Amino acid sequence: MRFILLNCLIFFSTSVFAKTVTVDNVRVWAAPDSTRVVFDVSGPVKHKLFSLNKPHRAVIDLKNATLKKNTTQPKALDKYLKGIRSGARNKNDLRIVLDLKKQIKYKIFQLQPNKHYGHRLVIDLFDAEIRQVKKEQTRKEIKKETQQPDKLRDVIIAIDAGHGGDDPGAIGPSGIYEKDVVLKLAKNLAKDINKERGMRAVLIRKDDYYIKLRNRIEKAREYKADLFISIHADAFRDPKVRGSSVYVLSKRGASSEAAKWLAEKENSSDLVGGVSLEGKDDLVASVLLDLSQTASLEASIDVSTHIINGLRKVGKVHKRSVQSAPFAVLKSPDIPSVLIETGFISNPTEEKKLSDHKYRKKMSNAILIGLKGYFRDFAPEGSLLSSRKHIIERGETLSTIAQQYRVSPNMLKKYNSLKGDFVRAGQTIIIPRDSGT
Ligand SMILES: [Zn+2]
Repeated sequence: MRFILLNCLIFFSTSVFAKTVTVDNVRVWAAPDSTRVVFDVSGPVKHKLFSLNKPHRAVIDLKNATLKKNTTQPKALDKYLKGIRSGARNKNDLRIVLDLKKQIKYKIFQLQPNKHYGHRLVIDLFDAEIRQVKKEQTRKEIKKETQQPDKLRDVIIAIDAGHGGDDPGAIGPSGIYEKDVVLKLAKNLAKDINKERGMRAVLIRKDDYYIKLRNRIEKAREYKADLFISIHADAFRDPKVRGSSVYVLSKRGASSEAAKWLAEKENSSDLVGGVSLEGKDDLVASVLLDLSQTASLEASIDVSTHIINGLRKVGKVHKRSVQSAPFAVLKSPDIPSVLIETGFISNPTEEKKLSDHKYRKKMSNAILIGLKGYFRDFAPEGSLLSSRKHIIERGETLSTIAQQYRVSPNMLKKYNSLKGDFVRAGQTIIIPRDSGT
């Protein structure tokens, strides 16, 4: 990964490029803190990028290249990009100019062909300052919410709609993209979750842009998520295959992740399950990590079982038992993480269903039933969901109730904002789970 100031001149060169490369298309994907410009090219291309100021421009010279079609102009709303121009240069070369709204940083790189696209030249435009400011904002927001000493907190569920932007995911027989249906489903699920008392959803991806898999996990960590759910739709060469499945991280995925954390432990300020690995000797660190991973995996299996039970009420379940795979987004060692394949988009009936908002509503409800079932059993300490309600009966006092539930009278006072020891019959109070402190 390279970050280069727009002010410097750089050269990229690969092998020898004799044939003329055509630029067939351009796509622009706007994410909240970056914009990705993708040029579809007919092959690897020798390129050079430099920037100019007043007005701000990024100039990309492509050796031995021509433009096939008219380039699509970005939406006027894009925060960084004003427009894209191009022109022939030195007979054989092509110059592309990105007109920018401000001076920003960029990354430029080429991508090899994949299932959906051929060779691509990618330019990521981003403002490092804004990125930092946004991170700080999230941090403050979360801090404010989690550090209210006299309030029981909501459980936080991070919902990750798979793929996005240049990565459409699986494509259905009638052309429906996985990235689109899963985003809609994720939004629906978030809405449902936010209606529940004691639960709050955060969307990892909010629109049509790509987020690196590692960054998805990182975002969940920033939000201090209690649970991470990645939403996908499967594809298989046999169009008859259908039904949903739920995945957790496989043993192999967990041990490779543990190795990574141990290798990086001295350079990372991240906590695993609230503990820093920094300065711990290797054995202690690996034991801590193992404990955390085991607990997270058990929780992930548990929540998956609940979700499968919910999904069985809506439609066919492809695999009735929890599946495991080394999926990168499931690798948080301390956040229970599950990946739901909501159906086979390669199956014409399921493609249709997934495109239907009524079906997605049902699906989202089924997942919510699973989540509620899980948190009923395993609500984290200090969360509103871990508390119980008690209606005070005649003759009861704060200390008898405290004794009954084995909590301290002070805790009862704190979480119910009671000034003194007085409680009256008929009053409802919250009983937090005792943290043993
Ligand atoms: Zn997928």
